[in-house]
Amino acid sequence: MAKAKPQSTAKKAPPSKATRAFSPAQARRESRAAKRARAGVIYDRLHAQYPDSHCALDHTSALELLVATVLSAQCTDKRVNMVTPALFARYPEAAAYAAAPLGELEEMVKTTGFFRNKAKSLQGLGSALAEKHGGEVPRTMDELRVLPGVGRKTANVVLGNAFDINEGVVVDTHVGRLSRRLGLTFEDDPEKVEIDLMALLPQARWTLWSHLLIDHGRAVCIARKPLCAACVLSEVCPSSEV
Ligand code: SF4
Repeated sequence: MAKAKPQSTAKKAPPSKATRAFSPAQARRESRAAKRARAGVIYDRLHAQYPDSHCALDHTSALELLVATVLSAQCTDKRVNMVTPALFARYPEAAAYAAAPLGELEEMVKTTGFFRNKAKSLQGLGSALAEKHGGEVPRTMDELRVLPGVGRKTANVVLGNAFDINEGVVVDTHVGRLSRRLGLTFEDDPEKVEIDLMALLPQARWTLWSHLLIDHGRAVCIARKPLCAACVLSEVCPSSEV
């Protein structure tokens, strides 16, 4: 994955209203059509910057991705990727999670945090998939959302990345934070952010959009100290500090 090189981190005064390329006030006044056009520019620039952007959770099947996504709650993808190889080898099918002793599952996912709840979810998930879906991961939002430990965000991850179904936009902390900084939404609630983003972007772009924002949030638009001087979006971002 291409990463933008952070340039100078020296503290600069925020730009004045007169010199700012795209101000917060403009973002507030922006028409839906103008915001859509700006979202398109943002997408294209990020796509050029991160051409290999993809789901950071290692997986080779829908079941593996579903399990990894459940484990990623309140945990880094890197940590999840350290835990999942052993887990996937030990439980290759949904029924294996259903049959696993809870204590054993807890031990295997312990380092991802909230391990008791996560182990219970994996066991329940295995049972539900084995009993109601022939051991397969279903391909609809309605069927996924009722599975143990699976909310809309997890369902979106699985649909988009395992099945290439753009059902919605995955809104994690990076996606929410960057979308607000970019003035594409003024909402805090992830489901409301998702609705705003779905209205701005063509459906075919929904899954990749999340990956692009996540990559940019990790490399450049860092939570505590965004590297605006090194950012390809600075001219179209109302929060730019350059
Ligand atoms: S790094 Fe700065 S310019 Fe780039 S998206 Fe974040 S706040 Fe905007």
